[in-house]
Amino acid sequence: MPLTTAELVETAVHHGMPVHEVVLLAETDADTGLTAAEAQRRLADLGPNTLPPPRGRGWVFQLIDQVNNPLIYVLLGAAVLTAVLGEAVDASVVFAVVVVNALIGFVQELRAERALDALIAMVHTEATVIRDGQATRISSDDLVPGDLVTLEPGDQVPADLRLVRTGELAVDESALTGESAAVAKDPLPLPHDTALADRTNMAYSSTLVTAGSGRGVVVATGADTEIGRVHRLVGSTSTVRTPLTRKLDRFAKLLTVVILGLAAVSVVIGLVRGEPLGVMVTAAVALAVGAIPEGLPAAVTVTLAIGVARMARRNAIIRRLPAVETLGSTTTICTDKTGTLTANAMTVRTVVVSGHSVDVTGVGYDPDGDFSTPVTPELRECLLAGLACNDARIVEEHGAWTAVGDPTEAALVVAARKAGLDLRDVPHRLDVLPFTSERQYMATSHAGGVVYLKGAVERILDLTGNPEEPTSTDDLAAAGLRVLAIGSARLSAGSELTEENLRGHVELLGLQAMHDPPRPEAIEAVRECRTAGIDVRMITGDHPVTARAIARTFDIPEDGVYARVTPEEKLRLVKEFQRQGHVVAMTGDGVNDAPALRRADIGVAMGRGGTEVAKQAADMVLADDNFSSIRAAVEEGRAVFDNLRKFIIWTLPTNMAEGLVILTAVVLGTALPVLPVQILWINMTTAVALGLTLAFEPREPDVMRRPPLPPTLPLLTGRLVRRVLFVSTVLLGLSFGAFHWWLTSGAPVEEARTVAVNVFVAAQIAYLLNCRSLEDLRPGVPITRSPWLLGGIAVTAGLQLLFTYLPAMNGLFHTSPIDWRDWGLIVVASAVAYVLVELDKWRERALTRRKGGRRG
Ligand code: ADP
Ligand code: MG
Repeated sequence: MPLTTAELVETAVHHGMPVHEVVLLAETDADTGLTAAEAQRRLADLGPNTLPPPRGRGWVFQLIDQVNNPLIYVLLGAAVLTAVLGEAVDASVVFAVVVVNALIGFVQELRAERALDALIAMVHTEATVIRDGQATRISSDDLVPGDLVTLEPGDQVPADLRLVRTGELAVDESALTGESAAVAKDPLPLPHDTALADRTNMAYSSTLVTAGSGRGVVVATGADTEIGRVHRLVGSTSTVRTPLTRKLDRFAKLLTVVILGLAAVSVVIGLVRGEPLGVMVTAAVALAVGAIPEGLPAAVTVTLAIGVARMARRNAIIRRLPAVETLGSTTTICTDKTGTLTANAMTVRTVVVSGHSVDVTGVGYDPDGDFSTPVTPELRECLLAGLACNDARIVEEHGAWTAVGDPTEAALVVAARKAGLDLRDVPHRLDVLPFTSERQYMATSHAGGVVYLKGAVERILDLTGNPEEPTSTDDLAAAGLRVLAIGSARLSAGSELTEENLRGHVELLGLQAMHDPPRPEAIEAVRECRTAGIDVRMITGDHPVTARAIARTFDIPEDGVYARVTPEEKLRLVKEFQRQGHVVAMTGDGVNDAPALRRADIGVAMGRGGTEVAKQAADMVLADDNFSSIRAAVEEGRAVFDNLRKFIIWTLPTNMAEGLVILTAVVLGTALPVLPVQILWINMTTAVALGLTLAFEPREPDVMRRPPLPPTLPLLTGRLVRRVLFVSTVLLGLSFGAFHWWLTSGAPVEEARTVAVNVFVAAQIAYLLNCRSLEDLRPGVPITRSPWLLGGIAVTAGLQLLFTYLPAMNGLFHTSPIDWRDWGLIVVASAVAYVLVELDKWRERALTRRKGGRRG
């Protein structure tokens, strides 16, 4: 009695059984697979073929993670000290701030991780399954035990399979076993105690087919697969760490140490001067709390996550977060021609037989069209060969004809249909040498011993033994047409279909030349890349003359065209460009492109036409296979980098000034212009309500008109460091000045402090507006396009009013209401800050222009 499907899932003994037993056990059919109805039933019964979401560390641990950092220790220490000194209210304010800070960081990181997880789920895998005797592509999620799956190079094995048939099948199982050498597969049964890595008659979910073909019965799906088990054991977390965030983490740690040192020094200075210990500790805490840029890590994470989301909206799906940073500094894009620059919508325009050109009319894949001469037997044979040596189909849907399979082959189907030929005219196919980028041709053998071939002209001519190219190839290629040579041969009875057996026996039947229109938006995108200082190079397997003709449409110079390139040569090109100091983005779709994609700084895989292997190797996947999406990603990458720099350039001086205010007061021996709890208040409200809004800033209009930033450029260039120091001084001067002015004019100290805090925050708002553009006096983006920023300013203003006038706040933060007329002076102070920074920018620009230097 056959086992039920549930029992089948439980028994991992399939490698020990002969094929027919596995088929029996799985209640399936080795030729026709399951019926659609049965597959449906099993899917409802057993659930989809997906892995459960990673368990992660759990939110409790993530929350603890937020608290587990040196800054928080400092803050907690401060709270305890303040409590010991008897200031219960102040202590609880500090403590509340720690909690709020941790919560904000926690929520932000969680949201960023969610967003990234969702993106990874956007890249869907498909599988070819045989149901009711028909091969169809379905989402891998819908596979069930008993399904009959076929495998070809580039596929990701979609579930655990017991192989029932193989043809030189080789699988890369490193995802499961860590062993990177491909494993040869074979359906023969094995001893029951064979180890997982040696089960050559099984193909396991998530491993990758590198060569050959195969067919297998699904024996486990989803969490029941071997990879599902691993997944369950380990659990995994997507991290949002990149080289940049790590660099910043280190920077923040260093800063913390320096600041703690300064705080200690200020305590010593105070004690020497004879101040009471309690006052000095309070001051030191304020200094430390103020100067540490606690918003930095969260802001970086959020900025990167926003960049990733913006790229996804523009069809560029990031698979590895560091790519977001690298994209901004890309200097060379190596792109495929067919399908990325062009539409990959092939139409045969000209057929050449017996030295005569015949024009073909018609549009796209619509098989309605004619020939400029009557269809001779030679022409008919050439068209029939193109139809026979072919795996594509054309289908009509709502009156529109589309290609199923390779567009190059679909074009040949269409041409044959225009002469009235269809599959019934093709003798039964016996064997095939599939097209690969290395082989550059395809051959099929048919009943009666006839072999049809099609492929690159040089390759087919080479096989005829008479490699003299007909001149018409050049004319056709010069018009940008893709030219395929069509040939035939006879195999003597019993001889196999191999290149060896064909060599010298092939007869040229003719040429078919097809048109592939350029994508108009790609032409525009290539031009914009050039303006942005990025070299665009065309890498193609096509004929050099065709490639150059197409390149001309795109204004790509001749020395940027690499034709008849094999995948190994792609890898060499990437290395060569990198050696020249380029940051290289490289596109690819095939299995053999994986090494080049992995090696490139940005490996770009095609989401539609690409294999799973290429997608796995890539840093970025194009949802629409379109060159203009690469350009969009580079643009967004530059914008992300801009926004990061804007945030850093905004936050550092504000933090520094907060610390300096205290330090200066201690050194000069005056009253503190701003109290520790007030510093905490400023920190907490402005870091989020003001600073973080920079992460949402729209990109500046000129991002694609400047040269790429060198990847070695530090985040803070000399001029930006100078800007940080300058702004710190301005903020320090204004708040210190305001405090003492009010004091000397007889105001109570609470009131003077309230004014100082408001001046400080108002100046931060003004500086936020300065930071909308790092160099330009007038930001290119109107302020109305920054709703987040405007909202943040409004929220900050509202909070400051509460801080100043709400009695409860007055109690908590030692503030006191101020005269309404005082606001006029506060606004003037912030305007002064704004103008000073703009003047500084203007001076920098004048200097740079005189030196003829470039921005950075
Ligand atoms: P690319 O995609 O860069 O344009 P390919 O590697 O796909 O180049 O194709 C290289 C050459 O191989 C083409 O110029 C054509 O002559 C030939 N070719 C392309 N597709 C097929 C196919 N399906 N069958 C046979 N030959 C092909
Ligand atoms: Mg191709």
